[in-house]
Amino acid sequence: MKVEVAMQKLKEKGYKYTQKREKILEIFTKVNGYLSVKDVYKKIKQDYPTISLNTVYLNLSFFEEAEILETTDLNGEKVYRFSCEDQHHHHIICTECGKVKAINICPMDAIYGNPPGFTITGHKFEIYGCCDECNK
Ligand SMILES: [Zn+2]
Ligand SMILES: [Zn+2]
Ligand SMILES: [Zn+2]
Repeated sequence: MKVEVAMQKLKEKGYKYTQKREKILEIFTKVNGYLSVKDVYKKIKQDYPTISLNTVYLNLSFFEEAEILETTDLNGEKVYRFSCEDQHHHHIICTECGKVKAINICPMDAIYGNPPGFTITGHKFEIYGCCDECNK
């Protein structure tokens, strides 16, 4: 997702535009992967030296709620990345650096119908690994 698309989405939902929020989103456009609150904090501090870790956290939670960022757990830490807007797919995630690559298969294709006593409403599937750069 691009920053402009995300900001447009926020406007449509009636949220306030702030320069800080735009800056945070810009940080995410520069990485192809997940960032922790601390990662974002370290980067945004270069432009906003007085920003607090909690402010960064609150903004990331806000973006998560607005469905602009998606989250997962890496090594016990909550991490964030831009939500994918393209057609349904899954990801392989580098557990070292948080880099993400799309995988165009869905394990749900192997499941026919609903399990007895359940109606499927969604699923989550992630593959973890180590990218070539981190393997060096
Ligand atoms: Zn994706
Ligand atoms: Zn890596
Ligand atoms: Zn799937």
